[in-house]
Formats: sequence, C-alpha cells, structure tokens
Amino acid sequence: MKRPFNFSAGPACLPEDVLAEAAADMLDWHGSGMSVMEMSHRGKEFVSIYEEAESDFRELLAVPAEFSILFMQGGGIAENAIVPLNLSRGEQADYVVTGNWSERSQKEARKYCTVNIAASNVSDGHTSLPAPASWQLRPEARYVHVCSNETVHGIEMHELPDLKALGSSAPLVIDFSSHMASRPVDWSRVGLAYGGAQKNVGPAGLTLVVVRKDLLGHALQHCPTAFDYKIVSDSQSMYNTPPTYAIYIAGLTFKWLKRQGGIAAIEQHNIAKAELLYNFIDNSDLYFNRVAKDCRSRMNLPFFLKQDKLNEPFLAGAKANGLLQLKGYKTLGGMRASIYNAMPFEGVQALVTYMREFELKNA
Ligand SMILES: *Cc1c(COP(=O)(O)O)cnc(C)c1O
Repeated sequence: MKRPFNFSAGPACLPEDVLAEAAADMLDWHGSGMSVMEMSHRGKEFVSIYEEAESDFRELLAVPAEFSILFMQGGGIAENAIVPLNLSRGEQADYVVTGNWSERSQKEARKYCTVNIAASNVSDGHTSLPAPASWQLRPEARYVHVCSNETVHGIEMHELPDLKALGSSAPLVIDFSSHMASRPVDWSRVGLAYGGAQKNVGPAGLTLVVVRKDLLGHALQHCPTAFDYKIVSDSQSMYNTPPTYAIYIAGLTFKWLKRQGGIAAIEQHNIAKAELLYNFIDNSDLYFNRVAKDCRSRMNLPFFLKQDKLNEPFLAGAKANGLLQLKGYKTLGGMRASIYNAMPFEGVQALVTYMREFELKNA
C-alpha cells in the first residue's frame, strides 16, 4: 500500500522503514520475548537500546564530550520553564523574539527570572530575522535564548549567532525542536539545545536536551528534582522512568539517518526539497510566502492563497490527492507544509504538482 504524504508540523511523519521495523519488533524485540514497551528501563535490553540511541545521536550531530545528552519529558513547552529554572539563578536572561515559539518562551521565563528582550521582529509581523549585531545583549544575562527554527512563522537561523564575537560571554540556548538533526550544529556557539522529538526524530513524549556540562548544578532551589539537569545527567536520564518507547523509536530513526548518509547528506536533501517548493511558490500567481529570503525555514513552509475562499477547496483537493495536514497554524491561517527529514523528495514533487494543477483550475 502506498501511504499518503503527511505534511504535519508535529507529531509528524516518520520514515516508513522505521515504522515497519517497529511493527516487526512489536511483540518480541530481538528474541527477548518482550515488546520494548514492556521492558524495565534498568534491564540490559533497554539499557542497550538507550546507549545506542545516545551514541548514535552524539555521532550524527558530532556532539562534543563536554556536553551531556539528556532524554527528558515535557516537550519544548516544559523546557521554557526548565531552562530558566536551571540556568537563570533567578537573575537576568536575554530573549530574542522571532515568532510564536520564542514569544512563548520569554513569557514563561518571566515566572523565574528577569527577562530582557534583546531583539524582536514583531514590527514586521515575524517575517525577518533581526541581525545579531543589532541585538541588545546585557552583560548580566545568564544566557541568551533563541528559537533557531520558528515552526509557525517559518523562519530559520541558517547560521547560529556567535555571541563571543558580539561581546557576550553568556551561553546561547537554542530551541531547535523543529529542525533538530536536519543540519549540523556548531556546538562551539551553543551552551544548551532542546527540542521535542515529535517534529524530526520520533514520536511525542521525548525531549532531547544537549547541555554543556559546566552549566549543570545551578538549578533554583524550587526546581523539580526530575527537571534538574544535573540530576538527570548524573543518572543517565533514569532519575525517573524515561519515555522508553519514544527513545527506542528515536534510536531507530537515528539508525535510519545514518543509512541516509548522516546529517550532511540529509541537509542537502532538505535544501533540495525546500528550494523546489519555495521556487514554485515564488513563481506562482496564486500562492505566496511572506518570509525574507535569507531566513526561510527549510522545515516549515507557511504559504497563503491570494483568495481565502480557495482555502477549503485547496485542502479538500489535497487530501483527495494523498497530501495530508496542510492546514496552517490556527492564528496565522493559510497553509503550512512541514517537510522534515522523513518527507521524501517525491512528496514535495507531488505537492508542487497538485498546487500547479489547482492554480490552473482556479486561474
Ligand atoms: C513544537 C514546538 C514546541 C512545543 O513542543 P511541545 O512538545 O508541544 O512542548 C516548542 N518550540 C518549537 C520551536 C516547536 O516547534
């Protein structure tokens, strides 16, 4: 059976090979007589799954030894609180607001520390990136927070800011939920990266946190113990029961990524898919995208039809053509195509073919 192409922003499509492998392992993982869901997280079977997932992720993203990789729960939204609980010391933090997600992050952080907005693109409706040289960074800030891929507004930082070159010694915190493992990360510029697995590497329920070890051990006294990065790190993410099945699926996805040629290869694939769709949209008379060309996301492509009355027929026709979940975010309207690692090139080709036919019919 040929499955439809699924453009959901998250939880999002997974590689078909990963789903098939998980299906084959469902009742009996590797002769253990157990489903992965039924294993003790401290037993040798699950510990081997966990250790391989950790080492494959470290290898894929070239995470240096001075960083811990944590497998947590709570998603990006919980991290909006967990980051200031661990890093702010109740003092100051700088936030760069570039869209829906970084806006939510700064709002949540205000419960735990003093937030300075170092830069914002709200005046242009979240369609560009404020140049790092213009950011108002405070010397007192305990960290600088950015969302390196704004899932709703479709804005991506193609290069992470070099805070040292901007005169700041604060660690950079990135919310990379929606482009994790889609391109390499320059860890020399990052203190902490976090993201939910359900956009690019697995199912919902697992949050990956990559944190430089010198940042551990400064949690506020009222930080929940299960969310104290040092405790999570010291216990190999097993202070409490980790999301075992989600870790297993992420591990299969990491193996799939390695078979694709790793992160450099998947990045080229992602560039090709995004170019195909943006070029089509930019040359069309019916569709448009408002984001400045230098910061368009390769993962999440919001686009609009020039006449709102065509939205419903567009979505109905897409579904009939095996193109699912293209409806835009509730506050933004229009459409959004999320084309994460697992979206094949043929999926984007099929979308463009449908969009072209729809445009011709409605010219
Ligand atoms: C999806 C998303 C979140 C929220 O993730 P949850 O798992 O729902 O908590 C946060 N930040 C970004 C950039 C996202 O794409």
